[in-house]
Amino acid sequence: MKHYIGNGCTVESMPYEKTKACMVAEKAALLNSEQCEDAFFIADLGDIVAKYKKWRRLLPRVEPFYAVKCNDDYGVLKLLGDLGTSFDCASKFEIDKVLNLGLPPSRIIYANPCKQTSFLRHAAKRNVDLMTFDNEAELLKVKAVFPDARLVLRILPPSNFKVQCELGMKFGCHPSKAKQLLEKAKELELSVVGVSFHVGSGAEEAAAFAVAVEQAYGVFQTGLDMGFPFTLLDIGGGFPGQVTAAISFEEVVAVLNPVLDHYFPASSGVRIIAEPGRYFVASAFTLTANIIAKRMVARDKSNDEHLPDQVVTGDDEPASMYYINDGVYGSFNCLLFDHATVTPSVLQDGSDMTFVSSVWGPTCDGLDCITEEYRLPEMQIGEWIYFEDMGAYTICASSTFNGMPRPRIFYLCHDVVWAQTYCKQTKKVDQPISKVIPFMKAGHDIFETYDQVEEVFGSPRPELI
Ligand code: PLP
Repeated sequence: MKHYIGNGCTVESMPYEKTKACMVAEKAALLNSEQCEDAFFIADLGDIVAKYKKWRRLLPRVEPFYAVKCNDDYGVLKLLGDLGTSFDCASKFEIDKVLNLGLPPSRIIYANPCKQTSFLRHAAKRNVDLMTFDNEAELLKVKAVFPDARLVLRILPPSNFKVQCELGMKFGCHPSKAKQLLEKAKELELSVVGVSFHVGSGAEEAAAFAVAVEQAYGVFQTGLDMGFPFTLLDIGGGFPGQVTAAISFEEVVAVLNPVLDHYFPASSGVRIIAEPGRYFVASAFTLTANIIAKRMVARDKSNDEHLPDQVVTGDDEPASMYYINDGVYGSFNCLLFDHATVTPSVLQDGSDMTFVSSVWGPTCDGLDCITEEYRLPEMQIGEWIYFEDMGAYTICASSTFNGMPRPRIFYLCHDVVWAQTYCKQTKKVDQPISKVIPFMKAGHDIFETYDQVEEVFGSPRPELI
């Protein structure tokens, strides 16, 4: 549990890496003054920019195609698109989202091996011709609807490594069956241009990437021997997006770069792309929710009505149940679908007294539990609880079950990020944002929409990065 506010800490005195929590406090205070208690996200644009820079620096040979499914917020897509990433789309609607940003179809891979025929027709109409496949029926579909497509054979990743979300049970041709599938593609006169894999979302062992690249190399050789003009390797997603992940991005690249250089050296001319999702957005989004109800429950009595009264738990500390206005049917769907774990933090000044607490969502379903047991200080209705690292597989899969609204997204931009990324002027500016844009607060501002960010700053400029 973290206490950032209090003890003389002000937003202005915070170093940049701590501003996230301060921003939450500032925005929550503003909403309190407006008598607004709705849950909200703060998307730290600087975090996304920093991830982009890190990718370019540590994995320079690999072009990122951001997986739109992970978080399709307009601000995320616009920022990443302007920085220079391309996109992995899974459907017609994701394709349109990306094309509507004004990006060319060449910046898209349609990376869903099992596509709806009408979506495939749509891809053909909009010239999105790079796409994955992993089965014969898909080849027949492509032949009928989009025979000029450039196909990428998705193979199964190795199955003996730990991952947060496995994908191999649904997608991927076993490497030993690749030749057969390629023969079918040849018979249909389809163009297969390379190989892809996805080690699983949230890889927990960096070595998985090395084994998968080695397997991809084998299939690559098979394709080349069969006369296919293979020029593309797609190493999928699975890259960690937050510091609490089981492995770090640095650990992945330490394994990946040598193996790529060994099997696919720059001299081979092979284009290497990836489909990172959570890497870019997980840590950028902080979710803050309001305590809308509260209950104290005695823990010294068993709750089981079939047991006699004198059966006690042996623990005389009371426990609190807090009900907040986002839950597993909303942003916390990640607990079910993404096998995520979340950690509540509080905004109040540091009290050392904490109590066993559970945190629940707002719907009438008993399943709607966010944390079953966590130590929190005593909180009151109307206070805020926030959760960091909520950018991946949260917003995109949330519902409005029970009529509960989705949280709004606000955008945080800090002067450091502004000067290094967006600056409208031709040279980098070292002055604080408040000096250049006088109506802004010292050091940062929180925007209601991403369009407002662009109105003030202009578009991000990759050449500044
Ligand atoms: N590519 C494909 C085909 C996926 O299915 C996914 C996630 O499920 C991704 C990329 C993104 O994975 P991650 O968020 O782990 O990087």
